[in-house]
Amino acid sequence: MLMRAVLSGRVKPPRRLLTWPGTCAICKETRGSARTVYIEKGPWPRDDLRCLRCLSIPRERCLFEVLAQFRSDWRALDIHESSPGRRGASSALSAAPGYSSSQYLDDTPLGAEVNGVRCEDLSRLTFADETFDLLVTQDVLEHVFKPEKVLAEIFRVLKPGGAHIATFPWYPQLAATRERASLTDAGVVHNLEPQYHRSPVNGGASLVTLDWGADLFDRASDAGLDLTVHKLPQERKRGIDGEFREVFVFTRPADKTA
Ligand SMILES: [Zn+2]
Repeated sequence: MLMRAVLSGRVKPPRRLLTWPGTCAICKETRGSARTVYIEKGPWPRDDLRCLRCLSIPRERCLFEVLAQFRSDWRALDIHESSPGRRGASSALSAAPGYSSSQYLDDTPLGAEVNGVRCEDLSRLTFADETFDLLVTQDVLEHVFKPEKVLAEIFRVLKPGGAHIATFPWYPQLAATRERASLTDAGVVHNLEPQYHRSPVNGGASLVTLDWGADLFDRASDAGLDLTVHKLPQERKRGIDGEFREVFVFTRPADKTA
């Protein structure tokens, strides 16, 4: 209601908050109109710059801008999202008839459901080969162990010609991906000071296991995946700002087999 009032000009945006009108790639796809109002709730645009209509943050809008360009038919696809959020891009994707999702849940058998949430481990997916046209992860790949297994699993469950579209923090200045933490028979070993990101499951915190580096391209290629990296320019009117604006598209070539 507040947003509608602000858009109509009847009510001024609240003074204590920084707001401005603009367009949103997610609202454009799902609500028929890109018009929105942005609100900056704090000092870190990557997390704090919200669309008032769909509640998305910049990386979600980056993902949708790229998705709308390279798969404008996304609504017709078999889509699986690992660790979806409850707003913005995940909400929009979940409207597709072929959408499904999963979370990694501690102490839950893989493939089992708890309260309607399916448990999956990206390094050991329980799906059959060539199941999905589109896999989506938003800020998940910095939390996985065994990245080579994860990339191999992504290749396996994608249909030929399918793609994995992802956002995650990327440090191309690092020649080699840094394993901040490793999983061994003895448990988790921290190679660097532990860092955590907020998580909707597993106690609200998710350990950062990887700082992805420039070898990402080689690692994707080793798994049989073609990688393109899209970086959207800062544009506040489109709600694009903050760090780590890259969107990664890993494609399983149509004419290759594992
Ligand atoms: Zn929006």
